[in-house]
Amino acid sequence: MIALPFVLLAVLAALAVVTIRGRAARRRELAQPGRAPSAPLEVEDFHALEARVSRERCEACQVDFKQSGEGSRVHEGRRLRVVRLVCPRCEDERELFFQVG
Ligand SMILES: [Zn+2]
Repeated sequence: MIALPFVLLAVLAALAVVTIRGRAARRRELAQPGRAPSAPLEVEDFHALEARVSRERCEACQVDFKQSGEGSRVHEGRRLRVVRLVCPRCEDERELFFQVG
């Protein structure tokens, strides 16, 4: 019979691994273009913006994100377009930053 403390330790270790992997995945995600105001996606016009937004998928669920909002934000003197997206399945939220024109 396995002692309970070892089972608890194993569970905690597994949880730690999952948490660390999640953080690393999140960092990789934020390093992609358009995920931070410091690295916006550059598009010609709003048509190109819409086309780019429609290609955005939730990697976890493999479904298309739905647009939940849109606005503008000024970052370091640049006016950016911000599109807010939400996954219809897991409700994960994402912001995409664009430099239009
Ligand atoms: Zn999802």
